[in-house]
Amino acid sequence: MLTIGLIGGMSWESSAHYYRLANELVRDRLGGHHSARCLLYSVDFADIERLQSAGEWDEAGRVLADAARRVEAAGADLLLLCTNTMHKVADRVADAVRIPLLHIVDVTAATVRRHGLHTVGLLGTAFTMEQDFLRDRLAGHGLTVLVPGAEDRKMIHSVIYDELCLGVVSEASRTAYLRVIDRLIAAGAQGVILGCTEIELLITQDDTPVLLFPTTRLHVTAAVDQAITADQLVTTDQPVTADQLVTIDQPITTDQPVTA
Ligand code: GLU
Repeated sequence: MLTIGLIGGMSWESSAHYYRLANELVRDRLGGHHSARCLLYSVDFADIERLQSAGEWDEAGRVLADAARRVEAAGADLLLLCTNTMHKVADRVADAVRIPLLHIVDVTAATVRRHGLHTVGLLGTAFTMEQDFLRDRLAGHGLTVLVPGAEDRKMIHSVIYDELCLGVVSEASRTAYLRVIDRLIAAGAQGVILGCTEIELLITQDDTPVLLFPTTRLHVTAAVDQAITADQLVTTDQPVTADQLVTIDQPITTDQPVTA
């Protein structure tokens, strides 16, 4: 089994979920007392959150590239960046090490495509929903991405930072998120990506008939698959194959939010 390297702490609430899932998946696959071989480097999220708010993405990339080098030096065979938002600097992190970075969008998009869907809603931080780094990569996999309207995006973002990252799981926020999911479906989404690693602490597939794509679970499942089978490692610069490309009629932009 390979050693999975995790760059976490963004927030630690979701990193704890990554750690639990990795171990449960290995236990389920290998049985007995098997558990995941892994290394976790957990940052102080206050530092990262400050850099995000200040728009200092270069410095955030430098911090995470340094974390990646430490995880590699400690013996990891593959690397997970345990946050969607910080995939904004995924290339910088991947370039800092020789081990492959398993990109959260690639594993998520592959699952969406396996379900035969082409239009998905995306929930995440304002950075993730409003900037293009994640949506463009999903589009590169042939997916059309719908994001909630401005008011909904504001609510989704503040629940992530003011509640979920602090360990607060509220029934009112669950209900509010489920309403947004329904609005995305009404606007044409065939399923919804939970594109923030804390959201699945609030919403699970049991809460809605809408097909959900929980990025933490999908990310760690792909990592465990690779750790166990130790083949076909995916890197961030893996080219998208021609059969994955589908023409997008109307890619959504920040100026054209889907208001349902
Ligand atoms: N974990 C979150 C994500 O997946 C948000 C926290 C962060 O900004 O890293 O985007």
